[in-house]
Amino acid sequence: MHPCPYSACVCSQTAPTSQASCGRGCGEKIKKGSVRFGEAMKWSGGENGLVSAYKHATCCRLPSGVPFDPTEVYGLGALSEEDRAIAVAELSSTEIPEHLKAIDPEDPAFLGAKQLERVKAPETVALSLLP
Ligand SMILES: [Zn+2]
Repeated sequence: MHPCPYSACVCSQTAPTSQASCGRGCGEKIKKGSVRFGEAMKWSGGENGLVSAYKHATCCRLPSGVPFDPTEVYGLGALSEEDRAIAVAELSSTEIPEHLKAIDPEDPAFLGAKQLERVKAPETVALSLLP
């Protein structure tokens, strides 16, 4: 189920600044000039009770089996040819973006770089530390 009943309006544009974060996506900042997608989100402070929540194009990939209709994406025609190709490629892709793949905490490669060197407790510590 989609989070917003008004989400039929999906827009695409290039980010005018680097201020917006990828809402409901990865949460990282969206770089100025990169393709982003906005979807209507309920918010009482917005115009008609709605604001646009923006996401990276990569974070908007559709799950496998969902058909992509470019005519439902507002603003796609206003993008440059290069940006439009990026937007269509991202929406047509069914691959999970590398940065959104599940992390395996048991993977030694995940923990390997985070091993800390063991140090001796300072003499001034009055209580015993954990082993
Ligand atoms: Zn993102």
